[in-house]
Amino acid sequence: MSEISGHTKLIALLGSPVEHSLSPAIHNLSFAKEGVDAVYLVADVTPDTLENAIIGARALGLAGLNVTMPCKTHVLQYLDGLSPAAELMGAVNTVVREGDKLIGHNTDGAGALRAAKEAGITVSGKKVTVLGAGGAGSAVFTQAALDGATEISVFNVRDEFYDSTEVRLAELTERTGATLTLYDLADEARLQSEVAESVLVVDATRVGMPPFENESNIKPEWMKPGQAFMDTVYHPRETKLLKLAKEAGATAIGGLGMLLWQAALGEKLWLDVDMDVAYIEEKVFSEAE
Ligand code: NAD
Repeated sequence: MSEISGHTKLIALLGSPVEHSLSPAIHNLSFAKEGVDAVYLVADVTPDTLENAIIGARALGLAGLNVTMPCKTHVLQYLDGLSPAAELMGAVNTVVREGDKLIGHNTDGAGALRAAKEAGITVSGKKVTVLGAGGAGSAVFTQAALDGATEISVFNVRDEFYDSTEVRLAELTERTGATLTLYDLADEARLQSEVAESVLVVDATRVGMPPFENESNIKPEWMKPGQAFMDTVYHPRETKLLKLAKEAGATAIGGLGMLLWQAALGEKLWLDVDMDVAYIEEKVFSEAE
């Protein structure tokens, strides 16, 4: 880390819990590598203390913020403006200072689609299937619509996310020009046919992480070369979905790409820094799993 001085900029992650976040390791290593005079710290903030935290961030002149659970939707009301993606998602993960204004962005979906692009997959003019309409899934299907995907099929189990998503997809269809449709994840025949037509399938459910680490929502016989399968889960690094995709000759994209690229896009927005994603991945995540 470069020496802390009176010029050092401060960026903070607000959320709760935050003490196990990987973001400080990612950003502080990147700042050191790029010679940026900035530090990244975390602050345990809940929706109850969020307003004061934002007032404090303004008063202290923080250079930028990340916002994580459970504050991503609550923070909107305290900001001065939103990027199109944050506005459409109704959630902010990155706050950028523009003069005396704090502008909310969302780099989660853009991070996922940038990871896909790095693997050679673009979604413009194509069909995408997204499993899971929680925070991660919503970010991905909204960004896919903004990036020009023509059809987006969203699957969710019939839990609390299902009904609110139906309304949300209708609004996105009206506002983006993409056609977004919600299906029940239990409808296996529909899932198979939507996957067959998709260039990119993103699993943003909790399947793939413990206790579901030996499960995959997608059957191997549905996968073919030329398609890409992304898991938002990054612990374990290689989920069942990714293993099956590789075996089928399809492109497998792990959740670490989404995490790293959302961070890289944040650094670009805060400080105009180009994070060396491959370097950070190797240094921070080289341990075998
Ligand atoms: P969330 O709680 O907002 O949403 C959870 C989603 O999983 C919902 O769609 C829910 O219906 C679905 N789900 C839960 N249990 C399920 C089951 N047994 N079968 C099928 N669907 C199930 O959570 P989130 O923040 O959207 O996180 C979802 C996943 O994405 C998690 O695995 C999380 O670790 C991962 N994630 C990764 C990144 C990244 O940067 N790579 C970022 C955010 C989240």
